[in-house]
Amino acid sequence: MAVEYLRISLTDRCNLNCIYCTPKEKRAFLKHEELLRHEEIARAAAGFVSAGVKKIRLTGGEPLVKKNIIGLVSMLRAIPGLQELTLTTNGLLLGGMAVPLRKAGLDRVNISLDTLQPANFRKITGSEGLEDVWDGLMASLKAGFSEVKLNVVIMKGINDAEVPEFARLAIDFPLTVRFIEFFPTNERSARLKDALFTTAEAKKKIEEVYGPLEQLPPGASDGPARVYKRRGGKGKIGFISGRSDYFCGACNRVRMDCTGKVYPCLFSPSTHNLRDHLRSGEDDASLAEYIKKIFLVKSNYKKDSGSAGHIEMSSLGG
Ligand code: SAM
Repeated sequence: MAVEYLRISLTDRCNLNCIYCTPKEKRAFLKHEELLRHEEIARAAAGFVSAGVKKIRLTGGEPLVKKNIIGLVSMLRAIPGLQELTLTTNGLLLGGMAVPLRKAGLDRVNISLDTLQPANFRKITGSEGLEDVWDGLMASLKAGFSEVKLNVVIMKGINDAEVPEFARLAIDFPLTVRFIEFFPTNERSARLKDALFTTAEAKKKIEEVYGPLEQLPPGASDGPARVYKRRGGKGKIGFISGRSDYFCGACNRVRMDCTGKVYPCLFSPSTHNLRDHLRSGEDDASLAEYIKKIFLVKSNYKKDSGSAGHIEMSSLGG
């Protein structure tokens, strides 16, 4: 499968402390000089685009805590040939940033939110701020993005009871609500290994309340999600079933972390350090050639068990 999708983690910093992510106290933040500068990120991104990437997603850490993210979005938007620029955020800072991000050229936004209840928000994220996320969601619905998605990681016994309430949002708002199967990725999330709540369980729960969901044909922005609609609903409901229905064969993405390490697969070790290439005075053509070689490694990489190795989502993004 041709690599057409790049996810860039902009920072290892985050303003939340989610139960399945790296605990704050264990995060030894990277030094400034280890991080790619905006110009380096933009040059790397342009190299990826000339090697075949059509879509870039910005993630983190929390991308909205990155200094001058609006300026970076403008720089990336100016890359010729880039078809789509998107961002995944926890939404805390989105209320005041949705319009500037849209104006700077961001096409779409995904918001991660696992609960609609303040006490559960505190339990899952270790923070206050549900109202801010809600404001961010509403602001992004008005900002003119081509699509707004809400990503919900469902965990048995933690937030599975809220599935119908989340589904309701896809009926009331022009929003794609996506239920994501939880997968253990590190020591902290391994404690929640029994929290898997499958797509089949979530779909059943929704249909018990709202009646049958109608599956939609795959859309260009669906990625690995299977997407449905409830008759009369303003939005859509998607399911990402990384545990119960592996989708490695259809994967067209690579990831670059905030230091320039490139990961052909979320679970593969990084063997490619683009930062060295960016800082060695190499010209753009050789940079693109190097990136094409990484893509070849991905096409030869076999990972079809769907089980996670050790990854830190706090630095690599989802
Ligand atoms: N801070 C941003 C955010 O919250 O969207 C971007 C980074 S966050 C690591 C990206 C996504 O990964 C979030 O939607 C989060 O819920 C998801 N995620 C992190 N650990 C996960 C896990 N073990 N299983 C499933 N999703 C996970």
